[in-house]
Amino acid sequence: MATAGVLTDRDRAVLESLPSDEYVRPMDVGGTDSSHHSATLQRLARFGLAEQKRHYRGVTGGHWRYRRSDMVQQALGFVRLLVSYGCAAEGEKMCGECGPCEAAAFLDKWGLR
Ligand SMILES: [Zn+2]
Repeated sequence: MATAGVLTDRDRAVLESLPSDEYVRPMDVGGTDSSHHSATLQRLARFGLAEQKRHYRGVTGGHWRYRRSDMVQQALGFVRLLVSYGCAAEGEKMCGECGPCEAAAFLDKWGLR
């Protein structure tokens, strides 16, 4: 598929390896080069595709941890329904307005499907 949205292949690869149920460090999602992973994760967070949380240790500041955002996770769940059962309103033909159809459009916009 052509590159939809503004995500690079690297952005998508990082997003795909990001868990949805726990916050992880940039180095946990495949980064030997943790600086570019941090930048990628911050981009994903800015787009609402990842959520970030400051993790503190001691008194020396802290660092960011990331997880896949609920929005992405819900969209992926909806699209699984779409694949299994079809669109909620139209069945095989997509109506473009029900939850699963909107989820599919959202993922398509970012090239995540
Ligand atoms: Zn629909």
